[in-house]
Amino acid sequence: MSTELLIKLREQGQLSRPEFRRLLAAWEPGLQAEAAVLASELREQHYGRRVFIRGLLEISSYCRRNCFYCGIRRGNTRAQRYRMSPEQILACCKAGYPLGFRTFVLQGGEDTGYPDELIRDLVQEIKSRYSDCAVTLSLGEKSFLAYKDFREAGADRYLLRHETADAAHFAKLHPGNQSLQSRLRCLQDLRFLGYQVGSGFMVGSPFQSLETLSEDLFFLSEFKPEMIGIGPFLPHHDTPFADEKPGSMEFTLFLLSVLRLMLPKVLLPATTALGSIHPTGRENGVLAGANVIMPNLSPQELRGKYMLYDNKLSSGAEAAEGLRLLAEQLQTIGCEIAVDRGDYPGI
Ligand code: SAM
Repeated sequence: MSTELLIKLREQGQLSRPEFRRLLAAWEPGLQAEAAVLASELREQHYGRRVFIRGLLEISSYCRRNCFYCGIRRGNTRAQRYRMSPEQILACCKAGYPLGFRTFVLQGGEDTGYPDELIRDLVQEIKSRYSDCAVTLSLGEKSFLAYKDFREAGADRYLLRHETADAAHFAKLHPGNQSLQSRLRCLQDLRFLGYQVGSGFMVGSPFQSLETLSEDLFFLSEFKPEMIGIGPFLPHHDTPFADEKPGSMEFTLFLLSVLRLMLPKVLLPATTALGSIHPTGRENGVLAGANVIMPNLSPQELRGKYMLYDNKLSSGAEAAEGLRLLAEQLQTIGCEIAVDRGDYPGI
């Protein structure tokens, strides 16, 4: 019965909300293994054994937002704040290019001290120096005009997780001045402007239920993002969710497979959170259907300050300088690193 739902999802790319709920409720190791086999087949069909790498630059730990789950929320007075200068960012790109990175991801808190014009100029500079590279931004909610400026400067992709597609759940994860509606408006703007758009959610966030997760899957099946980022929720000790329990690696893996079945060509990272929760989390993610890994390219002395959750990985194969280790780990599961922009096929 549940296997049929997996097949239906693969054939139609869509299930109803009740069907998604039934599929999630049926989760058990046997079904998870079946989903992983089907998902790996699809990943291989579209991408072979190649895994795309993205150089992740965590450009600022300042944030005007106060998301209850996040370690760099404004209200965390103990968070260590830093802001990388454009020169520092360009130096990281310079170091990353010869390592094989052809996508640079600029991610950060919503930092009012980093004006949009500076971001725009920076994007333009990166694109002029590395014309064969893609630039991905992940800087939160911005105005349509800011997104437009970034796009015109050459930004190719934008990552903005919707976090949860259930408005009541969204309100339990964020203060009242943030809304699902506003997040969705941003995603529509980004799509309209021609970005490759990424969305996603945390697995096991507080108050998440099979209903809210079905809503997430239904939303993603309709919006069809080019990229989807999911990873387990992991608590941070200086946030209101300090005592909440972490999300499950196994359930995250199951969801990765479900997403691959739903959107066969989607660019699907095995995220840092997945690598942080288990030593082989990222390899397991690839085996479940993921095809992207985002090693950390930020200056080593800053990495410990971008603490979204406790015990966040930023060294070893998680780090850009650990690419050889990453290549070896991928080899053990029959995969290899692709030196490639790794765009969404069809664009
Ligand atoms: N400010 C940008 C934004 O809002 O999209 C980008 C940075 S934000 C820190 C990146 C993502 O980190 C969020 O979308 C959220 O899903 C994830 N994140 C934050 N806190 C987390 C936690 N405690 N556990 C797991 N993931 C977390």
